[in-house]
Amino acid sequence: MPEQDVVVEVTNLRKYYPIVRGFMRRNVGNVKAVDDVSFQVHRGETLALVGESGCGKTTTGRCVMRAIEPTGGSICFNRRNGDMIDMTALSIPELRYIQRYMGMIFQDPYSSLNPRMTVLDIIGEPFITRNLVKRRSELEERVAALLHSVRLDPSSMRRYPHAFSGGQRQRIAIARALALDPEFVVADEPISALDVSVQAQILSLLRELQLELNLTYLFITHNLAVVELISDRVAVMYVGQIVELGDTAAIFGHPRHPYTEALLSAVPVIETNRKGHQRERIILEGEVADPANVPSGCTFHPRCPYAESICRSEEPPLLDVSAQNERPHLARCHFARELNLKGVRA
Ligand code: SF4
Repeated sequence: MPEQDVVVEVTNLRKYYPIVRGFMRRNVGNVKAVDDVSFQVHRGETLALVGESGCGKTTTGRCVMRAIEPTGGSICFNRRNGDMIDMTALSIPELRYIQRYMGMIFQDPYSSLNPRMTVLDIIGEPFITRNLVKRRSELEERVAALLHSVRLDPSSMRRYPHAFSGGQRQRIAIARALALDPEFVVADEPISALDVSVQAQILSLLRELQLELNLTYLFITHNLAVVELISDRVAVMYVGQIVELGDTAAIFGHPRHPYTEALLSAVPVIETNRKGHQRERIILEGEVADPANVPSGCTFHPRCPYAESICRSEEPPLLDVSAQNERPHLARCHFARELNLKGVRA
């Protein structure tokens, strides 16, 4: 992709939480929530960040927004006007200005909306705090347009969140995230707190808004079935690191990391394989590694069914396993080029 198509570029991002012990509160180690994560998000695309709970995907999303301070690395944001901004080098007022071009949608629309505020005040808050409207009527016009854009009736703006269903509340949260016309949106598990019946509606709304407004999404989820529906590319995280990154079709068709293969084996599919049997589910042994005590070598080796002795001693590099003329497909595995792993269509 040409350089100007990169909206967000994350390089060697780290977020460590110190472990302190004793009377003197000595630092005895770190919880490596995010450890040396690098990726790009291209204009107009959806990059899904997937993995089990606690793998560092939400922390990564919040660092990208600079809602929390990273320990190291850089996060560059490339605005539509061509300015490339290093988010980690900004002062608080500069950061606050740039954050208007970024939006965030949270998991739980029940707790993310203040129950004591009307919808008008919730969606209108960014305009008021940034002094972007002069009259109440102007604020109402802006909020009405935003409610309309998320397919809600503008006449409901004086109601409180409790008067809405879960799906409607998430539409309100989306309207607020889009209030200041962002270019880049981090959606953190935006459908996982919703009834299955409304999940598809919210996904299709996000897709429609992306096309209408030329939005770029970082979509954080643990649900690979959703990833296949919404994302152009996928980054799979395990214990704070990206272990596989590539086009959605390539990863679902031919995963190159054993962890991705195991995650994909749990994705429900309707069709059966050639022998007429459902695909075999891969049950991983053991627990997810503790980010405060990361295993030596490959962090996945205690659970990996393909582990060899080198996996216990040497950290695998992120290998590009794509064929010539294909877009990059990266996998953090010593045997990424040799293993013949199964995807959801195998
Ligand atoms: Fe498994 Fe070894 Fe590859 Fe790690 S490097 S995923 S342990 S085969």
